Amino acid sequence: MGGLPPRPSTPPDALTPEGRSSALADLLRQATQASLDPEAVLEVAVRWCARVLGDGAAMWMQEPGDEALVLGPYAHRDVARESVTPVLPEALTAHVLEREVTAADGPAIVAPLRSRGRVLGVLACARDDAKRGYRREDAELVGEVAARVALVLDNARLYERVRIQATTLAHVDAAVLSMDGENRLRSMNPAAERLFGWREEEVLGRAVVDVVSAESSDNVQRARAALRDAGRWTAPWRLKRRGGEEFDGHIDAVVVRDDHGGIDGFVAVYHDMTERLELIATLERRAAQQAAVAALGERALEAEHPAALMDRAVETARSVLDVELAGVFELADEGRVLALRAGAGFARSQVGSATVPGGWADGQEGFTLIRREPVIVGDARRERRFVQAELVAALGAVSGVTVVVQGRGGVHAVLAAYARREDAFSRDDVTFLQSMANVLGDALDRFASDEEIRRRGLHDPLTELPNRTLLLERLAEAAERDAGPIALLFCDLDHFKTVNDSLGHRAGDDVLRQVADRLRAAVRPGDVVGRFGGDEFVVLCEHVDDEAGARLIAERLAAAFARPFRAGGDDHMLGVSIGIALTDSAEDGDALLRDADTAMYRAKEAGRSRIELFDTGMRAWAVGRLQTEAGLRRALDAGEIEVHYQPIVSTAGGAGGGAPGAVAAVEAVEALVRWRHPERGLLAPGEFVGVAEESGLIVGLGRRVLELACTAAAAWEPRIPVHVNLSPRQLLDKTLVETVEATLAATGLPSELLALEITESMLIDRGPDRLVVLDRLRGLGVKLVLDDFGTGWSSLSRLAELPIGGLKIDRSFVADLDGRGGPIVDAIVRLARAFSLPVVGEGVETPEQLAALRRLGCELAQGFLFSRPVPEPELLSLLRRSAVADHA
Ligand code: C2E
Ligand code: CA
Ligand code: CA
Repeated sequence: MGGLPPRPSTPPDALTPEGRSSALADLLRQATQASLDPEAVLEVAVRWCARVLGDGAAMWMQEPGDEALVLGPYAHRDVARESVTPVLPEALTAHVLEREVTAADGPAIVAPLRSRGRVLGVLACARDDAKRGYRREDAELVGEVAARVALVLDNARLYERVRIQATTLAHVDAAVLSMDGENRLRSMNPAAERLFGWREEEVLGRAVVDVVSAESSDNVQRARAALRDAGRWTAPWRLKRRGGEEFDGHIDAVVVRDDHGGIDGFVAVYHDMTERLELIATLERRAAQQAAVAALGERALEAEHPAALMDRAVETARSVLDVELAGVFELADEGRVLALRAGAGFARSQVGSATVPGGWADGQEGFTLIRREPVIVGDARRERRFVQAELVAALGAVSGVTVVVQGRGGVHAVLAAYARREDAFSRDDVTFLQSMANVLGDALDRFASDEEIRRRGLHDPLTELPNRTLLLERLAEAAERDAGPIALLFCDLDHFKTVNDSLGHRAGDDVLRQVADRLRAAVRPGDVVGRFGGDEFVVLCEHVDDEAGARLIAERLAAAFARPFRAGGDDHMLGVSIGIALTDSAEDGDALLRDADTAMYRAKEAGRSRIELFDTGMRAWAVGRLQTEAGLRRALDAGEIEVHYQPIVSTAGGAGGGAPGAVAAVEAVEALVRWRHPERGLLAPGEFVGVAEESGLIVGLGRRVLELACTAAAAWEPRIPVHVNLSPRQLLDKTLVETVEATLAATGLPSELLALEITESMLIDRGPDRLVVLDRLRGLGVKLVLDDFGTGWSSLSRLAELPIGGLKIDRSFVADLDGRGGPIVDAIVRLARAFSLPVVGEGVETPEQLAALRRLGCELAQGFLFSRPVPEPELLSLLRRSAVADHA
């Protein structure tokens, strides 16, 4: 305090009234000078009191939230006594604080420091000599000093706070606006100035919505009402910059209240979400593209005809890129034209016939074909390098991208996508389309070389009839198409061996060729006649409604043997024995064939040249099914249903890095149902869940599993979530939500420790109804996890809207991480990251698979490598070991 004037030699009690008021003016001048620093204000005041009113003066301050007074600055007239800590006149102070008045008591005065209705502390003066008491005027003067000092002090503190807030606001990255109670702008920090493009002084006092909001006035009204009601409101919001450019943003607004609880105004923080949303969109688009490429690759392995694969490729390209047209062009007519081989968005009649005529080399497609380079045209109307093909121009294409479909032997074709909007294609899109083209190129190579081998491999060289492999393939296709009832007729020539032996192989072959022709002539065009070698022929007929129909076909076949066969210049009669197997769904082709074969043997046994129908297979199946169903009904009551548990572990670290037998950190557990059958032993779900599902017993079974799993999990230490599988049928059960709620209540398991595993198909199949059920389940606090994820890509892009809290990657991808599983798992993990969903890799059996999952960023895993599903006691010891490993 170097600026203080020297101490006067006049004794304090000799001060005249004029002297006092000039001294007071002097104090205020000093205090005001120091007014931006609260400590300095107090210091000035105690020095002034010590000097003017003698002898010692001190401040005791009331700290917020603290009862006791704390000693502030103090001073003494006599420098020598400056170091003595003053003593608070307790009784006097208590009186002063209680009444909030200034009081004197002999050699002491205590005055409250009051400002804006609050007491900030007290100012106390004391004379060293108890006999030299203060007068009433002295007390008044101290009271006045205290009142002034309190005000200056309060202002200084306020200023300090405002200054800290203001500098903080100036430095935060978030855009912060404050508004008055009428939503007029009161302030705008530099980050907000940058975000919106306004300077603060240009917009102060304007209505905030006019300045920054691009939402409808309805939305604004709703938001205001919500903000006033709840005191806080946060939501995505459409914002605009100076000049009107709109963007996706986010608002977090709070109400600022005055001292009486009324609304003083609002403060809102604004964020620009454009980049984040774009990032998510890009990730999602990439994942969808990678998945599409992977799916096409998978398709390529199965596809029978290049045309089907090309169709698939262009459909995929069009839908994944979200554009109007996609096509494959091939050179045709000895290089004179480019022909549209496959097309999506083109007229059906154009595919296979439309061409880019003579000048094709001048077009984008031709350039790509010749130079083998991808080309992007952003706007065909302004394009100078290429002439746009009439074929695509006519359909309104404006932008396009072309990539080459290359094979080992050279260029196969050009794959193209077109959009009716400008600049529809990014670099990423080119990469995607090129990947599709590569898959196509490889497949076309394979088709070219496979075609011949394949044809030979699938046909019997003697009769050119389909062989066993092809016939089984056709059977599988029929089952897949759901072609309805199928009849398989196994025909075996009677005593053909004698023909061969007596007339020689040549004559025998001749007879077999004739048999083939006659059988082919005896069936309908769609039926398949195959030869299985030797004298065995098999006929596959679809849409055979009943036994009578099947017998009719068999009789027609038998009739083909009514006339003699010409061999070695002679006529020979031949008999045939026919066995029939009839089925509704030819899921197991081999089994059907076996049945037909058995029936044929019975026909032979029964005396040859007969027809036998096999039906015990179907009967046995139905009987078995009924037995299982009845057994299951009893099992539920008899307590034969058990649950085994399989841990879901963290892929990170873990003792031994996941070596077999090592103890990894268990993060959750999946409950898997088992049936302890009195005769058949412990049955896995594969043996009875299907029957339970068809009969509706799954509802009761599921309820039991839920009860057992929740009861068990409620007692586990440490507490970890239990996953329970839900079947589609359970989702249709109206009481499902209540059942789950009641089970949680009864077992005392907290809802966040229950996860329900559902499959993708359950989300897609029946639409909104199921989503409501799922939303209600989630409303209970239960997590929903998508099981076997990756087997139906359809829901990938809708993931964000679905009430899903986690994914489990299907075992098949984990089993094939080296092959096509790798990119798929990668895509899933990345997508899950974008939505912050945890991912479990299922069916991990080897340390290599674990390492690959870890490398791809998949943080959770489940599989035999860590543990098979085990009964509860074993699980408990596993959990204990895992907890110990965790601590170690
Ligand atoms: P899921 O939900 O995919 O369950 C995982 C299955 O994979 C289990 O077969 C498990 O034993 C098996 N698994 C786990 N790790 C490995 C591994 O490393 N390698 C191989 N090869 N397999 C592994 P589980 O117990 O036979 O269950 C089969 C299916 O039955 C389950 O497939 C699930 O769809 C169904 N299921 C099981 N319990 C229930 C239930 O309580 N309710 C319903 N609705 N379905 C259930
Ligand atoms: Ca499961
Ligand atoms: Ca699964």
